[in-house]
Formats: sequence, C-alpha cells, structure tokens
Amino acid sequence: MDLERIIASTRRYNLHSHTEYCDGRNTMEEMARGALEAGMEFYGFTPHSPISVESKCNMDAAKVDEYIARSREIASHYAPRCTFLTGMEIDYLGSEWGPHLDYFQRMDLDYRIGSVHFVPTRDGVAIDCDGRYERFAVNLKEAFGGDLRYVVEKYFEQVITMTERGGFDILGHLDKIAGNASQAAPGIEDEPWYEGLIDHALSTASSAGVIVEINTKALATKSRFFPAARWIDKVMATGLPVAVNSDAHYVDKIDAGRREAFELLDSYSSAGSDSALRGSVR
Ligand SMILES: [Zn+2]
Ligand SMILES: [Zn+2]
Repeated sequence: MDLERIIASTRRYNLHSHTEYCDGRNTMEEMARGALEAGMEFYGFTPHSPISVESKCNMDAAKVDEYIARSREIASHYAPRCTFLTGMEIDYLGSEWGPHLDYFQRMDLDYRIGSVHFVPTRDGVAIDCDGRYERFAVNLKEAFGGDLRYVVEKYFEQVITMTERGGFDILGHLDKIAGNASQAAPGIEDEPWYEGLIDHALSTASSAGVIVEINTKALATKSRFFPAARWIDKVMATGLPVAVNSDAHYVDKIDAGRREAFELLDSYSSAGSDSALRGSVR
C-alpha cells in the first residue's frame, strides 16, 4: 500500500482509527459512514493488535480473520467513493512482541502502525501507561516506585528499539507518554535529557524511513498533539513523510484536530521548510 502517495495526494484521509474490534465505541459500519460524511477519500481501520499480556483495549487474536474480512467487505461496498484500508495498530512490548514478528507480517493487512502503550517495569512486567492520568499516577507509584524519569526513558527506549526492529509503516504518536508524564511533572519536556530522547527517536525514525504520525486525538482534551507542537520543526527537519491522524475511537471524532494540525504544519512549510509536506499543502 503506497501510503506516501495517499498522504501526498490529499488531506481527506485518516489512517488511524478504532472500532468495536478493540476499544472503539462504534461499529466498523458506523465509522465507515462517519468517514464518508466527513468527506474522507482514504480511511484506515487500525484496531489495537492482539497482545501477549492481559489487556481489555486490545483485540482478541481469534477475531483477526473476522476483522480483516469485515474490513474488506466495507472497502468493496463503499468503493470508489472512499478507499477503506485494513490496518492494525500493533503494540510493541520488546523483542518478544511487536510489529517485527512474523505473526504480524503474515497477516493480510494493507499497512501497520507501530505504537508503544506499555512500559516494562524493572522486573519486566508490561504496564499500560496510556489512557487516563489517574490510572497512570497509581501505576507510577506502585509499579515504578515513583521513578517518572525511568518510565519516560524506558518508553522512548521501546519506541527506538521498535523502530530499529521495523515491520511497520507509520510510527504512532511517538511521544504519547508525554501526555501523562507532563501531568505528573509539568515542565518535563523542557528538560535537556527529555529533548535528547525526542532527538534519538527521530533520528532512528529517519534511518528507518517510516512515516511519522501527528496524532490529533488529545487536542480537545489535553490541548496537544503527539508529537507535541514544539517538536514539529524537528519532525520536519527529518524530511520524513508526515501523516495527520485523529486516532478516532468515536464516530464524531473522525476529523477531530486534523485541521489544526495541518495549519501548524503549513506554518512550517510556508516558512520554507523542506519536502515532507509537499503534497499535503494542496
Ligand atoms: Zn495508540
Ligand atoms: Zn490508536
């Protein structure tokens, strides 16, 4: 699937979304109709992948074939009005679980997003650090002994090793941990060591040649993108293609925050930035 061609040809796409197959709140059919109503030309379904640890948010391995078949049905039903794509947001836990596994490579998917939501403790227990802050705060204290810097550094280590191992097309919300970490410690993103982690993640992404996602899901609730607006110049400097995705879990959020993200990106491209946005400025 030539995702780069898609994101260079139009802004009416969203390549990251969830449905009843994981923790989304609407059916695939409802999301498909919502995508059409939002005027999408390309729309990707990306359920949270099956995973090797207990997780209510992730899809059941036994449902993968059904999901793929259902997605293909929707794609043929709505073609050519909108091109529906069959993707997956694959969790990375370490060498033992991630997009690089043959298990995911053999699935009949159009594309793969690689994302980190879980951070291992010092004992190697995978803890979900995504989602609500209240739960993160409890885990920070109880599972990580209150060591926020460890959690943040480990998160980025996971992003970096996932990217080195490869097997995915789009790097999902690369600094997602900052949503909860900046609530636990406001100003953490001003720290030089933190900026170093962003630089390391982006240079690894650059070597891997992946598409970098600007995730707009939390714009309304947390007033931020992932990666944060402050790093967009660094993203642009990589020259990597950029995909603006809403990560919608609700039908009314399919286009949420995308216009604002494009405006931000435009402010860099009109300031003479490089080719990453060449197509997207149409
Ligand atoms: Zn995610
Ligand atoms: Zn997602």
